[in-house]
Amino acid sequence: MSKASNAKRRQLVVGNWKMNGNLRENASLLAEVVAGWQGEHKSDVVICPPYPYLMHTHSLLAGSAIMLGAQTVNQYDKGAYTGEVSASMLADLDCKFVIIGHNERRRMQGETDEQVAHQFVAVQQAGLTPILCVGESLQDREQGCHLETIGRQLNAVFAHTGKDVFKNAVLAYEPVWAVGTGKTATPEQAEEVHRFMRAQLPDLADEIRILYGGSVKAHNAQQLFALPDIDGALLGGASLDADEFLAICSAAD
Ligand code: PEP
Repeated sequence: MSKASNAKRRQLVVGNWKMNGNLRENASLLAEVVAGWQGEHKSDVVICPPYPYLMHTHSLLAGSAIMLGAQTVNQYDKGAYTGEVSASMLADLDCKFVIIGHNERRRMQGETDEQVAHQFVAVQQAGLTPILCVGESLQDREQGCHLETIGRQLNAVFAHTGKDVFKNAVLAYEPVWAVGTGKTATPEQAEEVHRFMRAQLPDLADEIRILYGGSVKAHNAQQLFALPDIDGALLGGASLDADEFLAICSAAD
């Protein structure tokens, strides 16, 4: 399905700041980003700062079309979960998107497919849009079982939610070996997986947005965005540099 034939899919660029920034740096980065993203655009832009900076980021984005997102969420709504943050709290802070299933959380925090499925539901119940990340390890890729891994990660959520709810969701393909490593999937590798992911949601194939993430930079963004099944990017490192970030947003626009 060609992108040109489908006006419904707005491109989306999501900046995941991870555990970076402080009040001063965030203010200066966002001053540049907001100034560089004025007026009407054909694509959507989201910034996901660390939790403590959500309110500050929200005020720095006031009046701009750039939306606020969060990097993770707890599956429960409230209670004795020290250190955790619920989806309803994120909604209260005017977040619109929440990244879930990021490989750093799966690997470092031990988040399971099942927890990710519960987070997906919690995010939607709070009225926000989940950005569900999936992706294979280097070993999976080398053994040629990358599609199997991605299918398993997707099915874990489908089994819990059904597929209809993906009407209000974004998918992100992030090969683990490409995130933060400087290695990018080739356009062919990325397109193969995006096509596979789109085929898992045949009823929503025209509308589901599937982002690519993994060392996307200004120099390779255009080539990735030109592919028929890639609808934007999830960015780590590149979202911390205003010029790089804006160049990628412009490439999506
Ligand atoms: C990410 O953290 O989701 C990511 C894609 O990071 P990077 O762009 O730095 O590879």
